[in-house]
Amino acid sequence: MENPNKYIVDLWVEEAAGYPIIRFNPTTVSRDTGLDLSLVFERLLELVRDGKLVLEWEIRCPNCFRILLRDSNINHTTVECDECGEIEVITDIIFPILSFNAGYREIIKKKQNLKRLVFSAGRTHRIIQTHL
Ligand SMILES: [Zn+2]
Repeated sequence: MENPNKYIVDLWVEEAAGYPIIRFNPTTVSRDTGLDLSLVFERLLELVRDGKLVLEWEIRCPNCFRILLRDSNINHTTVECDECGEIEVITDIIFPILSFNAGYREIIKKKQNLKRLVFSAGRTHRIIQTHL
């Protein structure tokens, strides 16, 4: 059974794409929407698979909370913190972080300047081409 509330995540993502937000984490979306983190993360991953979002992982120092590394794949067993020295990489210090696919963001920004997209089913294609 699909939870239709997952589409609230889409609404958040579309609105956020219009702001100068570079990266965001699932916790922010969960807090803003009041939805369960697991539902939010699940939907964000679907949007990643769809190509709208890009998923990376951040390693944060457990002592000083600096971001030590950000990558699409984390293969490290240890990382170096300038402040605290060598840090063992455990799952507790790896966090998902999302950004917008550039092309998707461009379309969303153009869309936000349009009052509407659908005039009639038959003319939609022409309207999109004219305005986007
Ligand atoms: Zn540190």
